[in-house]
Amino acid sequence: MLWVTCPRCGHRPIDEFKFGGEIPDVPASITDDAARDLDRVWMFNNVDGVTTERWFHEGGCRRWMTLKRDTHLDRVIED
Ligand SMILES: [Zn+2]
Repeated sequence: MLWVTCPRCGHRPIDEFKFGGEIPDVPASITDDAARDLDRVWMFNNVDGVTTERWFHEGGCRRWMTLKRDTHLDRVIED
């Protein structure tokens, strides 16, 4: 089972969290703020490797957190 360390609740099972989507890297060539927001919200990379994601601790403190996860190994590498 995958475990996540919530900054407020500590080491908790992933079942307590709800996936909020990845935070994709927006290319520096996109300089328009609206276009950057569009890429950030909707243009997911679906990376097979390390990605930055948002998770909601639904079964705990009910707060959002950001973590890095290796999607290939399905392992949290930084939280
Ligand atoms: Zn929490």
